Amino acid sequence: MISAPPATVMTLSSKPHIAMNTHEELRAVWHELGLSPALLESADVSSRSPIDGQTLAHVARPRDVDVDEAVSRSYRAFLAWREVPAPQRGELVRRLAQMLRTHKAALGRVVSLEVGKITSEGLGEVQEMIDICDFAVGLSRQLHGLTIASERPDHRMMEQWHPLGPVGVITAFNFPVAVWSWNAALALVCGNSVLWKPSEKASLCAVAVHGLWLRCVQHYIGQTRCSPEHAQMLHDLCLLVPGDSRAGDALARHPRVALVSATGSTRMGRAVAPAVAQRFGRCLLELGGNNAVIVTETADLDLAVRAIVFGAVGTAGQRCTTTRRLLVHASQHAQLVQRLIKAYGSLRIGDPREDGVLMGPLIDEAAAASMQRALVQAQAQGGTVLYGGQRLSPGTGASANPLSVIPTGGVYVSPALVDMPGQTPIVCEETFAPILYVMRWHSLREALELHNAVAQGLSSAIFTQDLIEAETFLSATGSDCGIANVNLGTSGAEIGGAFGGDKDSGGGRESGSDAWRQYMRRTTNTINRGRSLPLAQGVSFDV
Ligand code: NAD
Repeated sequence: MISAPPATVMTLSSKPHIAMNTHEELRAVWHELGLSPALLESADVSSRSPIDGQTLAHVARPRDVDVDEAVSRSYRAFLAWREVPAPQRGELVRRLAQMLRTHKAALGRVVSLEVGKITSEGLGEVQEMIDICDFAVGLSRQLHGLTIASERPDHRMMEQWHPLGPVGVITAFNFPVAVWSWNAALALVCGNSVLWKPSEKASLCAVAVHGLWLRCVQHYIGQTRCSPEHAQMLHDLCLLVPGDSRAGDALARHPRVALVSATGSTRMGRAVAPAVAQRFGRCLLELGGNNAVIVTETADLDLAVRAIVFGAVGTAGQRCTTTRRLLVHASQHAQLVQRLIKAYGSLRIGDPREDGVLMGPLIDEAAAASMQRALVQAQAQGGTVLYGGQRLSPGTGASANPLSVIPTGGVYVSPALVDMPGQTPIVCEETFAPILYVMRWHSLREALELHNAVAQGLSSAIFTQDLIEAETFLSATGSDCGIANVNLGTSGAEIGGAFGGDKDSGGGRESGSDAWRQYMRRTTNTINRGRSLPLAQGVSFDV
């Protein structure tokens, strides 16, 4: 059904070291994090490693009613926290950044163990947490409003930004620690409390982050010798609400949860948004993507190949910003495809903890099944699989990719490159796996039409040396995505900019720029320093 990859030169001159089994390594890493081993055996929900399928731990899942109780505690914490001056709120976030710096390697490892990211990506996620904490600490001294000219004499208008309330954060499995911090660091300096409903596929990462947070809180309480009431408030400031979609749904419906920031599939967003809207709550949605790279006639293909392979294959194609569509000028098609096939053939796939491995496992069997279904549909819709798409079997070099070292018990695939005759229905879907669909175009106008024709609008990129093409792509008639890049790929955003996309990608913007405003409520204030009461718009009402 799927064509075999081309022959690849076997370059494994030295045997990779045998990684520790995931269950044992987790215990060692947990010890480094300074967390209680009891947290690993606290209930009946198991967390398993996609690397080798081993059970890592049994983590807690509270009963449904606990959501109500958690929200009440969070609300009480909010009432006290909003009175703490913002720069002092920043101090707690500064300590969190320090804790994360100290434990970056160990926490990054938990990410690798539970969701299968390669070592540098696990570390990168923790670095992202540190970066957003630093950003939030600076912000805690700059939460600013405007002053506005009034039409009335002796009047002044201004805006203030006040804390909002408990913020519910629902997160996806593929960024199991960073997305919480994007929300929590900003929410906390803005004076809010936080309730975190992590992905049921990454609950251990959440327990680890929450454990580190509580260690910060304990140190802070010890050093500041605050009252027992204040200490209780600090304990309740960030709460974990583990569970499946029912816990997320309970947060979405709860009238005390002022903002629900939900990251996950578009399907999830379609359920959460109306539930929050029903009670006029606020929603910040970060949903699925179907991101494209446009390669023009003038593109630097060396740059493009590196960016496309990282975008399409990094995190095993399990990023919201993964490159899923490649729109290539017809004149570049043959050469680019040939270079991509060569690059794909040189990728080492396997245990993500091993040096040199660039692609780890898929999260679970369901992900592999959805990849296979998509490939079958792509071929039924006229596509040709140019490379990969196979399930890789355990053993060194024993699989379809000779460079791979596949552990037993995980779900490993070779990334697929599929030539498509056009943008067929399957290309318009986000399949959360490493499939890159390649399509040709003849004019930039045609490329932009194809680019914007899908329902999602998250991330996008163009490779060109032509200023007019680059500026057209970035203009109002160009890419319709929240993220549009020139000569770099679709994935790997920095925290300084606002992150998010439009259309089916949800419309939310979080992280940098002025995203903090969503975690606060705006009041417009008018102050009269005169002795008369002029009315706006010249209205007279003499009593
Ligand atoms: P998912 O939608 O299955 O689950 C995400 C979270 O939502 C989980 O915590 C889940 O328990 C919860 N959830 C699911 N249904 C819910 C409901 N009806 N009510 C409340 N909560 C519910 O997504 P996933 O498989 O964990 O992650 C992959 C998806 O997330 C992809 O579509 C990816 O593009 C998207 N994603 C988007 C971003 C972004 O910033 N735009 C970032 C990461 C992942």
